[in-house]
Amino acid sequence: MGQSAVGSSRSFGSSSTSDSLGSAGAARTSAGFSSEVPRRVAQACASFVAAADCRDPAGVKEAARTGVASANQNQLAPRFQNPDVAANTTTADGITGTTLGFSGNVGDSLVQQVASDWTGNGKTFRLSMIRQSTESSGVTINMLSTPEIARDLNFCTCALGYSVGGRADPMGRWIYINADHSRATQRQSLQHELGHYFFGRGHPSRPGQLGWGGVMDYRIQRVRQSDREHFLDLYGRQ
Ligand SMILES: [Zn+2]
Repeated sequence: MGQSAVGSSRSFGSSSTSDSLGSAGAARTSAGFSSEVPRRVAQACASFVAAADCRDPAGVKEAARTGVASANQNQLAPRFQNPDVAANTTTADGITGTTLGFSGNVGDSLVQQVASDWTGNGKTFRLSMIRQSTESSGVTINMLSTPEIARDLNFCTCALGYSVGGRADPMGRWIYINADHSRATQRQSLQHELGHYFFGRGHPSRPGQLGWGGVMDYRIQRVRQSDREHFLDLYGRQ
């Protein structure tokens, strides 16, 4: 048992975070965001109707325009612990193992690839993700279309949803990933959203801040050894 102890950014003010795609996202053009949305996504957006109280947060629009997602002002909380992760983590013989149940329409192969990314060489940490038959345990991971994401975030512009790679609510135990992006981007997004599941909300924005240079850093968004060490600090000690 470990100690009883992971979008972009922004000010949408919900209990979760949603992650705009930064440089890791789709190809960017100086011509601006609209030119980046594939035709199939634009077609899927054709029937989108915005709510009366919709908004397009400036941070997301800026990320979409520039291709660089800015970190939000909230930093990672050093002592955040997700009870689901803590309860499913054990340490033996110097190796910390976490076994998480998951459900949802996400593909098993994507989940297993990302679990392997988090595990790394397996010498200090191993992450196992086990498919559950119900949503009653573990984390629900769903793939959403761009219009679905735009509705979820109450955007006025459907296409702006394309700039969101994923979203996570660690305590609500759900993650979603934008299904309209490449497999490589989905993989990176799920790496990052799992990071929110483990580490809570927030992102590092300056050198020296917790998580800088790792998966929670928008410039990187890949699992590094420093991320595993952060995980071990939170969950691996007896
Ligand atoms: Zn994030």
